[in-house]
Amino acid sequence: MPESLSTTDLAFKTDLERFIAEQLPTRSGEPDALRRSRIIAASKSMGLFYKTQPAEYGGQPGTLVQLTLAREALSASRTAIAAAAFGPAPGVLAGAEGDLKTNYLDPLMAGQKRGSFAFTEADDAPRHSWAVRDGDSFVVNGAKSYVTGGADADFMNALIHIEQDGAAPAPAMMVIDTDAPGVNPIGKFASTDGSHHMAFAFDNVRVPASQVVGKPGEGMPRALRQIGDTRLVIAATCTGLMQWTISYLDAHIRKPHRGGKPLADLESVRLRYAQTRIDAFAARSMLYRTARLGDSGENIVNESIATKVFASEAAARVIDVAIQLVGGQALREGHPLAALYNEVRVYQLTEGASDVLRLNMARGSLELNKGRL
Ligand SMILES: Cc1cc2nc3c(=O)[nH]c(=O)nc-3n(C[C@H](O)[C@H](O)[C@H](O)COP(=O)(O)OP(=O)(O)OC[C@H]3O[C@@H](n4cnc5c(N)ncnc54)[C@H](O)[C@@H]3O)c2cc1C
Repeated sequence: MPESLSTTDLAFKTDLERFIAEQLPTRSGEPDALRRSRIIAASKSMGLFYKTQPAEYGGQPGTLVQLTLAREALSASRTAIAAAAFGPAPGVLAGAEGDLKTNYLDPLMAGQKRGSFAFTEADDAPRHSWAVRDGDSFVVNGAKSYVTGGADADFMNALIHIEQDGAAPAPAMMVIDTDAPGVNPIGKFASTDGSHHMAFAFDNVRVPASQVVGKPGEGMPRALRQIGDTRLVIAATCTGLMQWTISYLDAHIRKPHRGGKPLADLESVRLRYAQTRIDAFAARSMLYRTARLGDSGENIVNESIATKVFASEAAARVIDVAIQLVGGQALREGHPLAALYNEVRVYQLTEGASDVLRLNMARGSLELNKGRL
């Protein structure tokens, strides 16, 4: 797995494996900042850094299969710093022009500014965050509850509902500076995977009309495109975690257990172990099939949903089985499986809760007659 790679992809995979083996491990005495810049330099030299970047910014965009190979292998390496291997990507700002390009997209791509994504509303919000037009600006009110990296971001790409006379509000993606007057950081928090988030309140925040991405009314499809792209990233992350976990479990059950016999001699252990491999095989098959369909120009909305739901739930099952078979030591603080258990749970919620995604698929099929799954 994955089979039938082209010669180019096979060469990329070999370079990738070399990069992971040679560059990612910690070198004794090397400070973090130096390690980070060494990894970035090596990633640039093999071309990986540029795979998420558009050509107009010097990028060499990778195919979905290549990006999937990279994300899966980096995830399987269990190296926190691995994310540094990718250069900044435009995300929601792809193709932005004018002030948006000059003030946000260009500095983002140059690594001078950091962006974040503000979609999720607070559980108790009486309404969506909204904006009212006032001359050349919008006045924004409301709150966003879960902005990853928001505390360190210079701006957020926020979904805001623009009020319109006599018509339903028009959702729009708006770029809002995190230090703009009226943007109030109301709580920084960490989730179980170790990532950090900020909740923001908007109190009469004035946002220039030039900071609307695209047109009012286009916000939801733009946001969902961004979320949709990230679903395949999550699926590849999950299959990488499964690969790491299965190798760990494999080594563990082959070792002599209490009394000298390996756990792998027990049929009940073999059944559970085999099921982890079945789950990983199914998830990886879905993942690479979806990436290939995407590369051939197909719409992969439904496939990405199915793959994200399956891979995130399968990874959680695999890690749970590994913990059960390794025993109590797997739950000691600092054990890699305990950390994985905490990390993997977030993937069934982030970029769409599993049940909400299932309902989306059912609606697409039953009401809209769309989707070939
Ligand atoms: C690690 C992490 C990072 C995140 N990063 C970001 C980010 O950068 N930006 C951002 O905007 N958000 C972010 N989120 C938020 C994430 O997108 C939401 O948690 C997710 O979409 C679920 O929304 P919610 O938490 O409001 O749960 P809710 O919408 O309240 O859903 C909770 C549960 O209720 C049920 N449910 C909800 N709606 C329905 C329905 N229509 N039909 C049936 N059942 C339903 C489901 O079982 C669901 O799991 C992040 C979350 C996590 C965990």
